[in-house]
Amino acid sequence: MNISSAIFDRSAPDLDSCPDESLPEFAFIGRSNVGKSSLLNFLAGRQGLARVSPTPGFTKLINFFTMSKTWRLVDLPGYGYAHLARRTSSQFNQAVTHYLQNRPNLHCVFALIDSGLPPQDTDLEFVEWLASNTIPFVLVFTKTDKVKPAVVHANIEAFKVRIADWCEAPPEIFTCSAAAKQGRGKLLGVIAEAIAAARNAGPTDPGGPVQEVELPPENLPAIGKGMRIRATTGGRPDSKRPW
Ligand code: GDP
Repeated sequence: MNISSAIFDRSAPDLDSCPDESLPEFAFIGRSNVGKSSLLNFLAGRQGLARVSPTPGFTKLINFFTMSKTWRLVDLPGYGYAHLARRTSSQFNQAVTHYLQNRPNLHCVFALIDSGLPPQDTDLEFVEWLASNTIPFVLVFTKTDKVKPAVVHANIEAFKVRIADWCEAPPEIFTCSAAAKQGRGKLLGVIAEAIAAARNAGPTDPGGPVQEVELPPENLPAIGKGMRIRATTGGRPDSKRPW
């Protein structure tokens, strides 16, 4: 998929401040320092689209970028730095939680995980929360250049084992390295597939432009096998999670 333009739309502090729901959205989230900004710049093919920060937890707002005039890339605040989450208090938690739970045009969450680390509690908790909220997501293991492939493999396998009970079907898993420029095509492929599926599923104008497609949440297309997963245990989760 080509990206002909990448335009910053806005930074939203809450759901009400988000742009209209006319374009399909793809959200990226992970623990601070996971390499999200680097990956977004890499995906967009533009340095400086998202800020690469040496200070963990810098981004606290929901940032929207309009890509090729047809879809939005959504940069969600990082989680995992308790002192920042505390300082910005419930506003920080609520904005992301509300966005993830209530955005009808959110097609897929790309949950970023550092491939160099064994499963981290905050990542596991977040994935459990996504699963129990039936929010479509894929897992993206970042920075694969940093450690040996065998370590990446072992960490991914360990993660899969830990989340298995929460998922009816295993989520799709991708690897990437912004530094080594690996993984861009497959991640953009997920987005292209979802946009094509939304276009085909459009009840009124199947062949029309993507920006004219509006789908109610229950009709959002699954992106590949295992994209929509459900928790097999527990009831509704606590919606005041720290992300
Ligand atoms: P964010 O906090 O999740 O947005 O992460 P950043 O993109 O700001 O990256 C955090 C740190 O990880 C920076 O020092 C980056 O240079 C580094 N980094 C990001 N992506 C990669 C990668 O693919 N490989 C390596 N080796 N380092 C990376």
